[in-house]
Amino acid sequence: MTAQIIDGKAFAAKVRVSVAEHVATLKAKGVTPGLAVVLVGEDPASQVYVRNKGQQTVEVGMASFEHKLDASTSEADLLALIQRLNKDPKVHGILVQLPLPKHLNSDLVINTIEPAKDVDGFHISNVGLLGTGQKSMVPCTPLGCLMMLRDHHGSLAGLDAVIVGRSNIVGKPMAQLLLNDSCTVTIAHSRTRDLQSVCRRADILVAAVGRPEMIPGDWVKPGATVIDVGINRIERDGKAKLVGDVHFESAAKVAGAITPVPGGVGPMTIACLLANTVTACCRSLGLPEPAGLTA
Ligand code: NDP
Repeated sequence: MTAQIIDGKAFAAKVRVSVAEHVATLKAKGVTPGLAVVLVGEDPASQVYVRNKGQQTVEVGMASFEHKLDASTSEADLLALIQRLNKDPKVHGILVQLPLPKHLNSDLVINTIEPAKDVDGFHISNVGLLGTGQKSMVPCTPLGCLMMLRDHHGSLAGLDAVIVGRSNIVGKPMAQLLLNDSCTVTIAHSRTRDLQSVCRRADILVAAVGRPEMIPGDWVKPGATVIDVGINRIERDGKAKLVGDVHFESAAKVAGAITPVPGGVGPMTIACLLANTVTACCRSLGLPEPAGLTA
């Protein structure tokens, strides 16, 4: 079998078109959705992410507000900025780029964001709402995975889903979303016994570990859908290369469908950030939610 490749880049482009249409409708009503991104310090990867987010925000017609703060910024100053953004009617979404410098308490910072503007979905209120199946802001990476899975399968009800990784930003919200879509969900992690057998029973296998190519093809159930969240920078044949947590070549021979790295989950994450910002804007105005862009 050769797996169907789930093209996250093309899917993300479609999501952005849909976001841009909703933005145009909102602008016709006199409202421009706005996303504020806060970056503290000079972490090179974070700078690239923030630049990409800003560019794509503008490309879909939204307002982008970038706040770049010195690495030595005090917690009080950062919290004061967030409070100002919470109150700013031009700002519908707020994202604080993680990781923050060590002297800043990330939980406190994230939980200071107004939950309705928390487009990363990391505020404890949004975590609780998602966990109880209520309307919330949903973390972007798992939301992107869910969109691709729904597009591929239609209904996910009754499917066996295995998520490898239990982080708060990917593994746990992914599990919750799939549970809300009536999958039978298993979360595996570094202490899971016989991970191979656990993975082999999955109709949907989501890998969010951060270990290059650790899941080989013989861990994949024939015909399964494999979503590879991992982004790992390795060197092969003297060249820098980006690989996922799944060994793509062997897994693609067994799976029914698979996301590549790069070009799979990655592009969907920023597209879902834009989608969440439009959703937050619509909710703030009491307008119907943009169809197909939320969980
Ligand atoms: P974390 O490091 O926070 O979590 C990794 C998880 O993997 C942990 O739960 C850990 O288990 C588990 N794990 C580690 N080693 C093993 C192992 N040998 N067997 C089974 N489980 C293991 O990572 P994140 O969730 O933040 O990210 C995961 C990957 O996804 C990374 O490669 C990251 O770069 C990528 N990522 C990609 C995004 C995108 O946009 N495409 C966005 C976010 C992340 P335990 O809890 O027991 O330690």
